Amino acid sequence: MSNYDYVIVGAGAAGLLLAHTLGNDSFFSEKSILVIDKSDKTENDRTWCFWEKGSGDFDALLHKAWKDIYFSGRDFELSSSISPYTYKMLRGTDFYQHFVRKVKAYSNITWVQDEVVQLNESKQAVKVTTQRTIFFGKQVFSSWLDMEAVRKHKHYPLLQQHFMGWFLKTDKPVFNPSEATFMDFSVPQKGNTRFMYVLPFSENEALVEYTLFSEELLEQSAYEYEIKAYIKQKLKDSDYEILEREHGSIPMTCYPFHNSNSNRIFHIGIAGGWAKPSTGFTFYNTHKQIGRLVHHLKKNKPLYRLYKKHKFWFYDLLLLDILYKQNYLGSSIFESLFKKRKPQLILKFLEEETSVWEDLKIISACPKWPFIAALWNRIF
Ligand SMILES: Cc1cc2nc3c(=O)[nH]c(=O)nc-3n(C[C@H](O)[C@H](O)[C@H](O)COP(=O)(O)OP(=O)(O)OC[C@H]3O[C@@H](n4cnc5c(N)ncnc54)[C@H](O)[C@@H]3O)c2cc1C
Repeated sequence: MSNYDYVIVGAGAAGLLLAHTLGNDSFFSEKSILVIDKSDKTENDRTWCFWEKGSGDFDALLHKAWKDIYFSGRDFELSSSISPYTYKMLRGTDFYQHFVRKVKAYSNITWVQDEVVQLNESKQAVKVTTQRTIFFGKQVFSSWLDMEAVRKHKHYPLLQQHFMGWFLKTDKPVFNPSEATFMDFSVPQKGNTRFMYVLPFSENEALVEYTLFSEELLEQSAYEYEIKAYIKQKLKDSDYEILEREHGSIPMTCYPFHNSNSNRIFHIGIAGGWAKPSTGFTFYNTHKQIGRLVHHLKKNKPLYRLYKKHKFWFYDLLLLDILYKQNYLGSSIFESLFKKRKPQLILKFLEEETSVWEDLKIISACPKWPFIAALWNRIF
């Protein structure tokens, strides 16, 4: 069969969660669903971290969870509990294994490994052309990201959150497994916003990740140089081996991704603008957005109504405007925040759950002039 009610292009975080939610709900049991991904999803290509209160839907799959976090700036450091939140880590491979198996088992879902090369929408359906064949879908959910369109759009600055991480095993017990390093800005900033993440699994094992929020990517050797320097400083005379590596780049932009949605094509995941522009955190928001999307489908509400411009979009826009022009200011902005406000409030704000009163507390903890100048420039 080549005609489907729903076609899901891309079985990553968003596509798999959507396919599983539809497959698992008897409301959709009469719908024929096709999932297409160019990869077989067997590679451990990423690690997802997110925070939530108490237990959650991914707990059985977690690799590790922390109740304490560490933050370091140039002149300030903090070790703190984040209760009632827990910082959680999920390995891509565990997520893929679990959800691919489930999705392939639903009788109304067909799985095809192929690359989509074109989507053509007509009044009746979307023609989905892959490398090998053609399918038709009444509704397409696509996580196929068109970065060219994002780059061309000049109204919103585009930064990247780019990073390289090494999974290390050391010969001495050098890590504190009960505390995750959320951001360590003590590394040389070199005119950018640069920090380290450290996610320790035991006293001997951790993911050490060098991260930048900046416009241009670095040469691979530059990330490696900085990770080595950090390890030398932090791990002192411990020897280590690199068990695995990961690297990636997440667009940081307030670009209106929803503008490329149409009657029959709806973008999901990063392609749908579900990455938080100012931090790149996407996973937990994707989980939330899939819930909203499926609710809309069940109520037969138009999908364009899912998008709402909100205050957090504007806060993110101001921060990105600042970092685009004065990229070196990132460390002082985050340092000022963590110095003056509790991590719980900062996490709540980054999760976009704060009230206006709480927003004001966050805003008043940031250096004022860069934000006033950014606001002025946006208005005038
Ligand atoms: C290394 C890494 C670490 C990250 N860590 C975090 C984190 O800690 N926390 C967080 O919140 N976010 C994180 N992110 C960001 C974000 O959560 C992930 O990128 C997430 O996987 C995005 O989900 P997605 O479904 O939009 O895209 P993806 O998961 O990338 O899925 C897209 C899928 O579409 C397929 N595809 C693409 N084009 C085609 C095509 N033409 N035809 C067929 N298939 C296609 C791909 O093979 C892929 O399977 C990380 C990203 C990376 C790269």
